[in-house]
Amino acid sequence: MAASKKLFESKLVGQVDVTKNKKSKSLRLKFDKTNGQLTVTQPSWLPYEAGLKFAESRQDWVVKNRPQVLAFRSNDMIGRRHVLSVCFQPKTKAVVSKSKITVSAPNEALLDQPDTINIITKACYRALKIETEALVEARIQVVSKLMNATPTNLHIRRTHSRWGSCNSKQEISFSIFLAQLPDELVDYVIVHEFAHLEHLNHSSQFWQRVESVIPNYKKLRLQLKDHSPALKPNVFA
Ligand SMILES: [Zn+2]
Repeated sequence: MAASKKLFESKLVGQVDVTKNKKSKSLRLKFDKTNGQLTVTQPSWLPYEAGLKFAESRQDWVVKNRPQVLAFRSNDMIGRRHVLSVCFQPKTKAVVSKSKITVSAPNEALLDQPDTINIITKACYRALKIETEALVEARIQVVSKLMNATPTNLHIRRTHSRWGSCNSKQEISFSIFLAQLPDELVDYVIVHEFAHLEHLNHSSQFWQRVESVIPNYKKLRLQLKDHSPALKPNVFA
């Protein structure tokens, strides 16, 4: 069902996106955590202004719950080698190459607008995927030989909940955010998942297998807790 919407600039709560939805039975207010957009969803028979009024009546909630949104600037470093470069052009877009993310936007202020943040965030995800693919490809050749194991399939996915996983079909997945980790933690994550090819659990035999390849795995496992699989510019800057 196509939703129709209207954008308002409110003195009290900032930009509000009021979206009409035929299925909606009541007014709902929420933030998009990635780009900070404040949205009211409402039944389609209500006038748009009702949504705006609703958002303004919840000013305290809005101020308290506004998410911290990433601000992107020229020369930000994404992953290990992608440099963000901003140029000012009428059309907003982002192009990813081997070591660069070129962002075009009409002006500096628009960089902090939800739509632009969405476009840049997606480009950063593409860059991280390219980097993680290359990183994993290079390292699994070593690990595969060392552990004498090969997964049936390998995926690089935008996973925010974990760094890697292995299923009973012997398929291994890695998060695109691996490229934001230092080398030894990347190796720890890869060895951890390869050990799951032998032991699909976290038994003592599993940890022994990890330890046989990485004797200081306990230290690395602790260090990994200081990182999270989410977009973070300038970790290698
Ligand atoms: Zn595990």
